[in-house]
Amino acid sequence: MSELVEAQQKFSGMLGLLLVHIAKETEYRVTLGESWRTPEQAAANAAKGIGILNSLHCERLAQDLNFFLGGKLVAPPAEIGEWWEQQGGAWGGRFGDPPHFSLAFGGRK
Ligand SMILES: [Zn+2]
Repeated sequence: MSELVEAQQKFSGMLGLLLVHIAKETEYRVTLGESWRTPEQAAANAAKGIGILNSLHCERLAQDLNFFLGGKLVAPPAEIGEWWEQQGGAWGGRFGDPPHFSLAFGGRK
């Protein structure tokens, strides 16, 4: 199995634990945002300055989440980003993309 597939499987399991953590241990609720992204979409985003060409979304190593509190869309909370980091994940809140939860790979987050 390739290193990438191993990382993808690890990320998928981590993401499941993150969703359970949010649902069971916080007041927040989430909906799934963007997950896999085609290379064409990543290139179009990069051209508009709203993403990077080598996005981990293209590698199935990133998930964007929409957070709700009391039924209202809210900014992703740092406490959950920090919890994710403690599990070994990378949180986009460190680089201006708070909805982004990923597993660093090949020097990318
Ligand atoms: Zn993202």
